[in-house]
Amino acid sequence: MAAESKSTDVSEVRMEDLVSLCARRGLIFQASEVYGGINGFWDYGPLGVELKNNLKSLWWQKVVRERDDVEGLDSTIICHPRTWEASGHVEHFSDPMVDCRACKKRFRADQLDDAGRCDSREGSSEHDFTEARSFNLMLRTSLGASEDAASEAYLRAETCQSIFTDFKRVREASRQKIPFGIAQVGKAFRNEINPRNFTFRSREFEQAELEFFVHPSERESWFEKWLELRMAFHAELGFDPARIRTRPHEADELAHYANAAADVEYHFPFGWQEIEGVHDRGDWDLSRHSEFAGKDLGITDEETKERYVPMVVETSMGVDRTVLALLCNAYRVESLEGGETRNVLRLHPALAPLKAAVLPLSKKLGEPARAIAARLRRDWNVFYDESGNIGRRYRRQDEVGTPLCITYDFDSETDAKVTVRERDSMAQDRVAIDALPAFLRERLEGAE
Ligand code: ATP
Repeated sequence: MAAESKSTDVSEVRMEDLVSLCARRGLIFQASEVYGGINGFWDYGPLGVELKNNLKSLWWQKVVRERDDVEGLDSTIICHPRTWEASGHVEHFSDPMVDCRACKKRFRADQLDDAGRCDSREGSSEHDFTEARSFNLMLRTSLGASEDAASEAYLRAETCQSIFTDFKRVREASRQKIPFGIAQVGKAFRNEINPRNFTFRSREFEQAELEFFVHPSERESWFEKWLELRMAFHAELGFDPARIRTRPHEADELAHYANAAADVEYHFPFGWQEIEGVHDRGDWDLSRHSEFAGKDLGITDEETKERYVPMVVETSMGVDRTVLALLCNAYRVESLEGGETRNVLRLHPALAPLKAAVLPLSKKLGEPARAIAARLRRDWNVFYDESGNIGRRYRRQDEVGTPLCITYDFDSETDAKVTVRERDSMAQDRVAIDALPAFLRERLEGAE
């Protein structure tokens, strides 16, 4: 097996290749594909759901479980409609949009350079645009049998609002004191005018959000601290440091209530784009919900007896955007000796959908090889494959990022050892079958 390889520069990664790999291998593909798809909606297949779940559990581990000052929450997607009046979404959560009078397509007024040609006008391929109008991005639904204004509700546009409305309940139940945070991972919905760049701008997506409540005198220091912690998280995921950065917001980009904000950006094949936002939201949210609900969400410091509304530092990671950035970061086309090429996803082992594949060299060796897979499945997501030539089986695992391939051959019958091949280096080790769990633990999770 050729050990030498030359890989493509990540900047040469073409989105269409990645999109096609994702569909072919069942990572991510169009929702409702049999009906021609539905714009802005994506399904995660067998391997995609593993990858996405791995990212969400790493986030939960770091942000919630490893800290005693953060509590978890799982709130509903539909909240009381007043929530969105208080948050400002009903009034302000909109993009300016224009319509083409001829082809009837709708575009974001700030993205007209990408509008392309109009195919419905005679004598001109220029669009015939209307004036820009404001278009609210919240998705509406109605509750109960009647469909009047009173039954109108929204699918949440961000996961954080119920963290604010549940703030008092969670704080009292968990007996937390300021500073502390509440975190949740879940779906959010935005009726984006132009969903595009694969999953990057979708209409249904997931967010992993933390709202951290602090004393007003500590808002700056906690903002800096969380920005640092979030960048450390992304570094641990294995992002190329040259392709990830923070971009502080300019004063004119800040929401009127915000003191500071920074985006975490990844350099996608389509440019630098936000994958996470870190925001100092001040006391805007708690104050607004106090006002709209008529309930005081402020707190009293037990020691100083000071009464105040806590300030909020938010970290809001887009799960789908981060998965997409991780895929772009990991994807390589490598040339091997002999003119062959291989696609590889150099994913961090903790993120890889499959941790190992057990591959008997011949179907006749199926029984002992299956026994190995069954043992390893107690601890890891392990794939078993006995068909096709071994080189092709390795390639299939490389392109979905499986860190280790375990080959059971005829010698294994006598020496009780298997060959373990590593994805990135393609180096091979002969390992005793009994020692496999410890070997995998060391390679996948690092020695304790
Ligand atoms: P953008 O300016 O790109 O629309 P935003 O600033 O409105 O994003 P936030 O409201 O700060 O985004 O949401 C936090 C995170 O949620 C973003 O960093 C992003 O990762 C994710 N997100 C927001 N909108 C979408 C979307 N339409 N599709 C996928 N992820 C999204």
